[in-house]
Amino acid sequence: QRIISTDIIVEELEIEENLRPLSLQEYIGQTKTKEKLSIFIQAAKERKESLDHVLLYGPPGLGKTTLANIIAYELGVNIRITSGPAIEKPGDLAAILTNLGEGDVLFIDEIHRLNRNVEEILYPAMEDNALDIIIGKGPSARSIRLDLPPFTLIGATTRAGLLTAPLRDRFGVISRLELYFPDQLKEILIRSARILKVNIDEDGAVELAKRSRGTPRIANRLLKRVRDYAQVKGTGDINLHMAKEALELLEVDAIGLDEIDRKMLITIIDKFSGGPVGLDTLAASIGEEATTIEDVYEPYLLQKGFIKRTPRGRIVTQRCYQHFNREMPS
Ligand code: ADP
Repeated sequence: QRIISTDIIVEELEIEENLRPLSLQEYIGQTKTKEKLSIFIQAAKERKESLDHVLLYGPPGLGKTTLANIIAYELGVNIRITSGPAIEKPGDLAAILTNLGEGDVLFIDEIHRLNRNVEEILYPAMEDNALDIIIGKGPSARSIRLDLPPFTLIGATTRAGLLTAPLRDRFGVISRLELYFPDQLKEILIRSARILKVNIDEDGAVELAKRSRGTPRIANRLLKRVRDYAQVKGTGDINLHMAKEALELLEVDAIGLDEIDRKMLITIIDKFSGGPVGLDTLAASIGEEATTIEDVYEPYLLQKGFIKRTPRGRIVTQRCYQHFNREMPS
């Protein structure tokens, strides 16, 4: 398991729950999204209506699930959490929808992975609070319509482009979560350290923040691993020295790149003379899925200005050559 993978590791689930901020005020960063949401939430509450359906998209580990929980908390309603692949049949979704209370939030993670039959149940539910059920088969089949309580659907996806147009069009609020900057990650780390009862000084937190790939999930994971290291090798407190030593052991470099990032960048440099190289060709040469490269690795490398996307493919930049102490070909 990559230490800086954005995937959730099973043993982390409980700790991840403990570290989740509960209110918008506690939620660090994502200023634009927060501002928009707080206005819409207040307006919906004042009108005593349910909040419009919300689509959150962006790379994994940036806080989409957290935000969905916060929205429900701020609205004062219950949340039901599920995911696209978990809903196999239209009947599964129908059962979830009919069990929602007035104004509740239904959160569907990986909503782009809903199958088509299931997705079609969602259209009238989102638009008219109605459930269309077909009874019988063949010529005698008929459709009946059941009323649903008003509810808010919150969908999360790594890429909004993967959603079908009819589904995307039914969301009133569409918000993109951005990678976090090191100073925001530092704040998240200091907050998490307080909850985990670990002492971390400013420099230690800055160091971890710089290596967390703009992702709170990774920041929290590094914090836990460095905590273990500090406990065994030192007094348990995390400072710059401890952070650096531990991260070196974990093979996370000074700016948070790991083996696979390095392999990908070096491959573009060595095999493709710095690019442009098409995504599929690149994926094949490093043995990774194209979608994983696009959703997981690239966002951070783009934020760091190490690669660029051009119509002809990916190219690495001067800054990337410098990082690897390589000469950029003229
Ligand atoms: P996603 O659903 O986008 O994959 P999560 O909502 O599960 O991501 O967030 C992963 C972890 O990162 C959570 O444990 C949460 O504590 C932390 N986290 C995410 N966003 C923030 C934030 N803005 N402030 C503080 N912690 C955050």
